[in-house]
Amino acid sequence: MMGRKKAVVSLAQNKDIALAVKFSLDNIEIPDFFGKNILLKPNVGRETDPHLGINTNAEVVSAVFDYLKRRYKANYFIGDSPIINTDTKKAFEQSGYSELLKNEDLQFIDLDKKPPIELKIPHGKILKKIKVTGFWEDIDHIISIPVLKMHMHCGASLSFKNLKGLIYKREKITLHHKEAPELIKKYQKDMKKVKELDIAISDLAHVFSADLSIIDASYAHEGMGPSSGEPIKLDTIIASTNFLAADIIALAITQPKWRLKEVPHLKLISELLPNSPKSQKDIITIPENIKAFIHPLKPSPETISIKYKNVRLIDINSCSACLSTIFNLLKNNKEFIDQNFTEDNPLHLAIGKGVTYSDLYDETYLIGNCTSKVKDYKKGIFIKGCTPVESTILSIIKDRLRLKKKLNPDF
Ligand code: SF4
Repeated sequence: MMGRKKAVVSLAQNKDIALAVKFSLDNIEIPDFFGKNILLKPNVGRETDPHLGINTNAEVVSAVFDYLKRRYKANYFIGDSPIINTDTKKAFEQSGYSELLKNEDLQFIDLDKKPPIELKIPHGKILKKIKVTGFWEDIDHIISIPVLKMHMHCGASLSFKNLKGLIYKREKITLHHKEAPELIKKYQKDMKKVKELDIAISDLAHVFSADLSIIDASYAHEGMGPSSGEPIKLDTIIASTNFLAADIIALAITQPKWRLKEVPHLKLISELLPNSPKSQKDIITIPENIKAFIHPLKPSPETISIKYKNVRLIDINSCSACLSTIFNLLKNNKEFIDQNFTEDNPLHLAIGKGVTYSDLYDETYLIGNCTSKVKDYKKGIFIKGCTPVESTILSIIKDRLRLKKKLNPDF
């Protein structure tokens, strides 16, 4: 970074989160948005309640909108494309955006409502093209407003990962289904955790970028992210015009012992984009000393059996929709699962397109259409759907247990 201008990241902490937004934005040079079409892109991927650290806090987005509107007369839009089988508007309403969406100066757009356009990625390592929201060409500037989360598949989900919501509907799933064993072998020499998904996300950096990143750590999400961990109130906002710098500083305060390779897609992007920051030392923070912001979060376990000793989840290239369904199934039915399964006789579940016969145990529930290629496995129970609903999975497990008990009363 010698001789080059360092990226600036501004941090602010305040119980009044609107003030934290204001203080963090006051310290950075925001591009001139006058007269432009601006997309506020929070992470609203799920139909879930506010303040859980799962979706971006509506109070933060509201404060960002008020701040920008006061400074720039522009056309403001807000939108997202959530995980599959999720109603975008309902997701916004349930997580506390109803009041904000009534504002006449802010136009809500369901990013999936317009036919997609295809972007070419000629230099992508895995992705060569991607279908994105049909609103792509209507937008001049993107403001990424993610919630700071730990993430089971990616290490952490921050401002670049939030841009995945620009991908059209089910096209997002294609990122989970890429296979490139040779490439993985090469990268794993330096980055043990890297998967095809990380490389595919980093390929998006050829075409995706945010002009302003405002990371919401009012309630961050620790542990089993993206949706089954715990909210941690940090009252903190991190802002930068350099998304990678913002993400690096978000990690510096929540995972101070990590190196960037713990979040492989960020490490890959730092190598891909010229003049990118690689670590905190390549970044100017405001304030300079960020010790007071440090609050280590529990990382996401890489396997679900750390939390549920009586469950073995085989998760190979699944997408967030199936993963969330499994998380909810386990969380909402813990008593039933604990009564019927033990560490020695666990509940076996498999999700994801990468599942093969050799991964399976006897009595594995093969959940979702992605596992259909092993559905003739004699000792498996295939449950179709994309994603199958929680109640269907539960009732199939219950039916199976009833049958087993009938055949073997000692079971
Ligand atoms: S079956 Fe599950 S993992 Fe596969 S695409 Fe559908 S939701 Fe995603």
